[in-house]
Amino acid sequence: MQSIAGSMLFFAKRTTIFVFYDSDHKQFARITQKLPLPGHAEKHLKTKFPELLERIRKNRNRLKTPPGQPVPVHLDINRTPCDGCSGEGSHIDQIITNAKSNYNDVPVKISISAASISQGAQLTTEKGIESLINQGVEITATTVWSEIKNQMIKNNIEQFVYRGREYDIDQVNEFIAHEKEVQELINKVVENLKMTKPAPEVMGTGVT
Ligand SMILES: [Zn+2]
Repeated sequence: MQSIAGSMLFFAKRTTIFVFYDSDHKQFARITQKLPLPGHAEKHLKTKFPELLERIRKNRNRLKTPPGQPVPVHLDINRTPCDGCSGEGSHIDQIITNAKSNYNDVPVKISISAASISQGAQLTTEKGIESLINQGVEITATTVWSEIKNQMIKNNIEQFVYRGREYDIDQVNEFIAHEKEVQELINKVVENLKMTKPAPEVMGTGVT
């Protein structure tokens, strides 16, 4: 139930990023946007990320990820990174560039799961999702709420309490609707990318 944490906060005002690493999903940090200071949570993630890479480097032999394979780093976020945080020169771009140039001895593979789409001033559009994919980030929608709903139906549970807050099936359905929105946005981008990619026979020749 570790991954439940991020999505529980989806209705919160602040963006919160739970950072996990290695194939057994060890928690590294919980990073929260520091309101009312400027800067999205991704900015704080950027500051903190070298510490994670140092830790991975120092403990690489003891990690569960087999040697020679990139170490999975998973970000569980209550909303999708906005376009400003994911495009060229953005916080996420800088995180990846720094990891590649200064920690190329310990390659990592970044994945993100998001519980809802960023709206308003921190909007995420297809463009933002596309730049994440182009940077090699695997992005998916959270599926925690769908899983919880299945459990509720299976066990005949009408509501439950988590950290002092009560949840009923209507709320769970609302959260599932958000998960679906995220997945639909990602699907759209993936479809577009497939259509714009050159056909395999003209790829990789380098001959003009
Ligand atoms: Zn942002």
